[in-house]
Amino acid sequence: MTRDELLDLYRSSGALLEGHFRLTSGLHSPGYLQCALVLQHPQHAEALGRAIAERTRDLRPTVVLSPALGGVVIGQEVARALGVRAIFAERQDGALMLRRGFVVGENDRVLVVEDVLTTGGSTRETMEVARAAGGQVVGAASIVNRSPSTSSGQPPGGVDVPYVALLELALPVYEPGKCPLCAQGMPVVKPGSRPAAV
Ligand SMILES: [Zn+2]
Repeated sequence: MTRDELLDLYRSSGALLEGHFRLTSGLHSPGYLQCALVLQHPQHAEALGRAIAERTRDLRPTVVLSPALGGVVIGQEVARALGVRAIFAERQDGALMLRRGFVVGENDRVLVVEDVLTTGGSTRETMEVARAAGGQVVGAASIVNRSPSTSSGQPPGGVDVPYVALLELALPVYEPGKCPLCAQGMPVVKPGSRPAAV
């Protein structure tokens, strides 16, 4: 899947909106990304999972571990394409952990899979869950990398394993008082409040 094909898929699914948005954080951005809108179509989820699997198969993972909720659907599809288990970590009292009887064994080679990597924080935290359980983390992957370090070509901070993203997408965020789109007088939209044009 090429970068243009991926962008088309995201735009046509309404998963990538371009304009002027007020994010949940209160920051403003010219782009809004909601991977769940692509992944709601199982055939797209399957194709994206296959694409990640093709680029991570050489790491010989034995299990895919994803942070809930965002990573669960794509993790399942990557694991399906690799022919390995798909498990997820979820929060309890603020800490990410394995529940439901999921086990990472000493012989497990763990691939951490997320939908979108922003700061790398939840990927790092998921890697720690795998290591604390005794597994070896052999790689990390996401559909989209929107980490601020993307433009430098460096891996996101703290992700100290081979990292694969299908789509590098730097979406800047601005303090409302310093937003160039506000300065242009462009109306700001809260994503999800109405269908947005792309
Ligand atoms: Zn603004």
